[in-house]
Amino acid sequence: MKRFDKERSDLTKTAFITGITGQDGSYLAELLLSKGYNVHGMIRRSSSPNTSRIDHILNDITLHYGDMTDSATMSDIISIEPDEVYNLAAQSHVGVSFDCPEYTGNVTGLGVTRILEAIYEISPKTKFYQASSSELFGNNTCPQGILTPMRPQSPYAIAKLYAYWMTINYRDRGIYAVNGIMFNHESPRRGEEFVTRKITSSIARVLAGKQDKIVLGNLDAARDWGFAPDYVEAMWLMLQQDEPDDYVVGTEWSLRIWRFLTDALDYAGLGDAIITTSAANKRPTDIDRLQATTGSTYSRLKWKPTLYWDDLVKVMVDADMRAEGLEPIGEGDAIIRKLYPDKWWEGD
Ligand code: NAP
Repeated sequence: MKRFDKERSDLTKTAFITGITGQDGSYLAELLLSKGYNVHGMIRRSSSPNTSRIDHILNDITLHYGDMTDSATMSDIISIEPDEVYNLAAQSHVGVSFDCPEYTGNVTGLGVTRILEAIYEISPKTKFYQASSSELFGNNTCPQGILTPMRPQSPYAIAKLYAYWMTINYRDRGIYAVNGIMFNHESPRRGEEFVTRKITSSIARVLAGKQDKIVLGNLDAARDWGFAPDYVEAMWLMLQQDEPDDYVVGTEWSLRIWRFLTDALDYAGLGDAIITTSAANKRPTDIDRLQATTGSTYSRLKWKPTLYWDDLVKVMVDADMRAEGLEPIGEGDAIIRKLYPDKWWEGD
């Protein structure tokens, strides 16, 4: 671990990212480095390596051991007085939250209070971003926006709702604290237990002859899927505004899982005979459709998604084929090369 470098922090903005080893944390770290930030991240002690998404930037960032359940480490880290804190750490899997509801509440809910309290007491000028979620809306009117009543339907969403209101409460007490209510966002770095990545990584393994079936759960749920590198840019923009506020971020398109699945199979040249569903992969309560209505988000942030679900399918299948040592089909790679010609992205 590198130690905090005071000299360097005087010259540049300092950001602290919790969840830096995750999908969003890794893209956000790359984005902030490209903007000249001094980037710090929190990492959990693990008996096996958990830095695969950030290995390529390890020499450029400062990592601190810590945990969302541990107030002492949180206060220690906040004492570096970062300009910006991005709280992306969470037990982030909705399905797992039914198995571990108490732990999910501790990490995903109370953990946010631990950071906010440390900011309030130690570094009140620090700006704070909270990774809120469209899961807050639950089964509801569609589409869902900033005025939609929240009806969380999983222990994960309930923990996020607590964190959402804590963020607003500290904002009311004078902290620059912002909720980004983000709809689903995916990428080749999405964890393999999430359905989009499960689909694309399994397809690549089928093509590589390593498995012959893909076992999924509820294929009828509809989600609004965007591209994670786009969404981390929106996070950064939220902390660059004059006043703190909450924002809804999504593509405003929504499609059912089976549509993502059949498009991915078509793109890879596979038929649907390899698909089976299992009740074990279904959630006790699920949300039928999530679809964003983003209101003024695009205009206020001067931002909008660059990549929608149909291209996302191709990008993810291509990346997973490459990871399996196969020649990608290539349309997804071409999309990325066009969108990010000089990119902080090519590690995937
Ligand atoms: P992710 O890939 O699952 O990453 C979660 C991160 O949290 C990992 O770095 C993980 O560390 C860390 N973490 C988990 N428990 C922790 C603990 N007890 N202490 C410290 N760190 C802990 O999630 P993501 O997709 O990047 O999402 C980032 C955030 O946005 C999450 O809060 C998620 O709930 C929220 N969100 C995501 C989406 C989406 O579609 N991706 C949508 C809305 C909101 P390890 O690597 O050690 O496990």
